Amino acid sequence: MANRAYNFNAGPAALPLEVLEKAQKQFVEFENSGMSLMEMSHRGAIYEKVHYEAEALLRELLGIPTGYKVLFIQGGASTQFAMIPMNLLRSGKTAAFVATGSWATKAIQEAKLFGEVSIAASSEADKYNRIPSIGELKYDSDAAYLHLTSNETIEGTQWSEFPDTGAVALIGDMSSDILCRPIDVSKFGLIYAGAQKNLGPSGVTIVIIREDLIAEPTAPVPTMLRYTTHAKADSLYNTPPTFAIYMMNEVLKWVKENGGAAGMEARNREKAKLIYDTIDGSNGFYRGFAQAESRSLMNVTFRLGNEELEKKFAKESEEQGFVGLKGHRSVGGLRASIYNAVPLESVRALVSFMKDFQSHNA
Ligand code: PMP
Repeated sequence: MANRAYNFNAGPAALPLEVLEKAQKQFVEFENSGMSLMEMSHRGAIYEKVHYEAEALLRELLGIPTGYKVLFIQGGASTQFAMIPMNLLRSGKTAAFVATGSWATKAIQEAKLFGEVSIAASSEADKYNRIPSIGELKYDSDAAYLHLTSNETIEGTQWSEFPDTGAVALIGDMSSDILCRPIDVSKFGLIYAGAQKNLGPSGVTIVIIREDLIAEPTAPVPTMLRYTTHAKADSLYNTPPTFAIYMMNEVLKWVKENGGAAGMEARNREKAKLIYDTIDGSNGFYRGFAQAESRSLMNVTFRLGNEELEKKFAKESEEQGFVGLKGHRSVGGLRASIYNAVPLESVRALVSFMKDFQSHNA
């Protein structure tokens, strides 16, 4: 494809070109079946193979130990903000949260609809430009769970290591960094992620949940919002988003062919370093938003001297084929989202644009 954009969208975001091309070939007729995958029953053997293959690949690539269920749910990560407390926050218990930024705040607000919430640590006083250290976390030893947001998509901060929470179930919103690096799933009671950054198109949300946490809720919860419903039926209780799961399966195959989670981490570190080095080497022309030790491998947030210059940067970058560099309206500035599928060439092009822009505007 000749004029593929330099896509730095925050999500939905760049997908591997190879995957898009393969999906295009398979779009109208899937595996000599006389129809598209989208026209098939989700109860048929052909779709089921895709469904279980995607689950197996996720297990393999993330190193998910036995004793965990992998669920495919709809409604986005935003629905998990509610499903988690609806299912896991029993009365008399408190849900502890680490307040790291915009997405953690949304999760907190939603949990408050269902029960008691406590804040284990917060970086609000620093405008959420850092991830609190593990030593800062304070939560009740009989809390229902401790929730963290492994990567704050809007602020551009990321946890570099996760706490050992013992008997308290650790819950991670990994929507914007799942599979960007190897992680130790056994530290977590539940991990969730919308697919539309690192796993595929929007439409499916993965939930990895330790089996002892799957229990019928004590209060009435709609059938579709209970983990038991999806766990018992292997995520086939009702019609799953078949096309989104097919695409995720293809993205997972691509991740495997490109070195798995460790391969992704190496690529991602190289890409992120190129941009952060450019920011750090700019004599203050570019200023990183996140504190150095909390910098994200996925969303690089930075500012320029004033908003006029930031607008100029956004406009000129668009004219040169860059997409999605304007920062989120809540924090302003610029943001380059460099998820797994963003090619190194796009990042090289961005760094060259940044240097060029500086030389004309410093
Ligand atoms: N959590 C994080 C960290 C996110 O980045 C997003 C989406 N950008 C969400 C939750 C919400 O996801 P969804 O749009 O799938 O509900």
